[in-house]
Order: sequence, then C-alpha cells, then structure tokens
Amino acid sequence: MIQWFSKKLMGQLEVLEKRLKGKSGFVQPGPYARKSFDFLAAGGMNIPEESTEKKTFFFKVLPMIAQSMFGNFHMTKSLAMDPKKPRTIASPTLLADIETFCKAHKVSMIGYTKLNPDYIFDHTAVKYDNVVVLAQEMNEQRIMEAPSMNTEVMIQETYKDVGGTANKLARFLRLKKYGAHASHSVRGNIILPPVAQDAGLGYVGRNGVLLTEKLGPRVRLAAVMTSIENLPFADKENNPHQWIRNFCDMCGRCIKKCPPKALYEKAIQREGGALTHVDNKLCYPYFHKNYGCGVCLKVCPFSRSDFRVYKKAFERKKRKDAKREKKNS
Ligand code: SF4
Ligand code: SF4
Repeated sequence: MIQWFSKKLMGQLEVLEKRLKGKSGFVQPGPYARKSFDFLAAGGMNIPEESTEKKTFFFKVLPMIAQSMFGNFHMTKSLAMDPKKPRTIASPTLLADIETFCKAHKVSMIGYTKLNPDYIFDHTAVKYDNVVVLAQEMNEQRIMEAPSMNTEVMIQETYKDVGGTANKLARFLRLKKYGAHASHSVRGNIILPPVAQDAGLGYVGRNGVLLTEKLGPRVRLAAVMTSIENLPFADKENNPHQWIRNFCDMCGRCIKKCPPKALYEKAIQREGGALTHVDNKLCYPYFHKNYGCGVCLKVCPFSRSDFRVYKKAFERKKRKDAKREKKNS
C-alpha cells in the first residue's frame, strides 16, 4: 500500500517537474546533468518488524517523509506565486535579513554560488541560477548511533526542517518582490553537495557528502535559486576547503567501514561522466533496509571534533613529507 501510494506520488511529482524542462526563461540542465534518485527502484521504504520500531516508523518517520514529499510539490507549484517582474538587486539590509531569517529557522551555515547547470536533474529545469545554499546540523550523538531508528528519526527531521526552510525562504523573498525557486533537501531539483561545495561551505568527500569545517558531514542541505544577482558569491576556483579532499584521499575510513562495500578506493564514472566513489546500486538497498544507514557519516573523523584539529595534523604531516622528500633528493 505504502509502495503503491509512493509510486503514484512520485509519478505525479515527476510530471509536474517535467513541465519546466524546455520552458522559456528557465535554466536548463547541462550536458552532464544526472537523473534524480529513484528511491522506489532502489527498494523503497522498509517497514521495521519489531513493534516499537513499527510504531515509530508509522507515527514519526512516515509523516516526516510525507511532509518532505509535499514540500517537493510545493517548491514547483509555488512558482505560480513568483512576481511577474522580479527585482534583481538586493540591498545590504535584505542580504542581512536573509541570513537572520535562515538562522532563526535552525540553519547552521549559508553559502552563495552561481549554479552550474550540470547539477540540475536532467528531467527538469530551474527558474534562476543565483543560489542560496542552506546547511542544517544533524545531532552528533544520534549520528554516532547509526544505523538505528533513533538516527533515522533525527535525519528525517533534519530533512523536513531544512527543506521546509527553503520553501519558507522562497516565500519570504517573493513577499519582497524577488523571484525564488526552492530545492528541497529530499529529492529536490539540483544535486546539493557539489552546489554547496561551489558555495564555499566545504568540500565533497569520498563518501559523496559535503564535509564542512565546523560540522564535518553532519549537515543536511537545501537551496533556493533566486532572481537576486548581487549575492555574495563564493569564489569556486579558490575554495579554501580543498585541503579536506586531500585529507580524504589519505583517510579512507568510510571505504573500509561501509557495510555493503559501496564505497570504492578509486573513483568510478557515473552515467553522464561525473566521477564518484559511491556505488549507488550497492548503497541504496542497504540504506533502505537499515534506517538510512549513515555509517559513512559516523566513522568519518570529521563528524566528531573540530576540523581544525585535523587540518593542523594534516599540515604537520605535509611539512614532514616535504622535508623528507627534500632530504632524499
Ligand atoms: S550510507 Fe551506508 S551503505 Fe551507503 S555508502 Fe554510506 S556506509 Fe555505505
Ligand atoms: S571517512 Fe575519511 S575518506 Fe571518508 S569522507 Fe571522511 S575523511 Fe573522507
């Protein structure tokens, strides 16, 4: 019954999103755009057998998933409320108000970037290419319990919250006569981790998620594309967090600990050409049967303490390696 209903819902959502593809004035997906994640084909939702967990699933998890799905309908349907001639330049006060608004809605980090069209899902299109990226913290203690029902409840709650905030921010901007198109944290219309990387919030790790300086991989993302042209865009070519990826290349803990061995040491090529270490065909079935998994977040050293500790250790090692090389040459 749940699978049948989800399939129907996802079908309707796709029809709605496909209407934007090719639409005049919309930013179309680039030549390397990817398909959106089909969670039903990957096994859909798993209903726990144990009675307490079953109750939690039906009374907590399922309603939150439903809210996230309806949030996806809202992000496209609410485009009808976009101003006909949206404003394009924001005052410093409005830019500050956006940050205040997001922080009041539990957002931990905000970044800005111009959208690379290759990150738009290939079946749809988006209205603007100026992106506000939102990241909300996931509770550290509950990540450490992964995989568990307790972790899944927290993850679904964060998805629902940050995705809901994206829709609320879109409404806030429209009320100020700016155009806005939200992307929810679950599904959405763009691939969020590389967009967040471009926005300078962190760097995408070998586990495929954004690793941030303050919170490591313990964040969920959402975004709002807007008509505001003068956002304080990050310099994507000089991302200060690039060292994270170099650290990642030395670490590999998530690769060793991933239960179904869905993470590879060497990157593989996805359909469309993009490189990744994550084999979705192995990850998703395990993910759905095991409370949304989360092991690769739990074991990532950056989930636990401040990134700066690792940055210092990494820089020390680099200095030592450079000295050794110099001595040997
Ligand atoms: S979510 Fe779980 S199965 Fe998927 S890559 Fe991470 S550890 Fe592996
Ligand atoms: S566990 Fe290590 S390799 Fe995996 S994402 Fe974290 S830092 Fe990178």
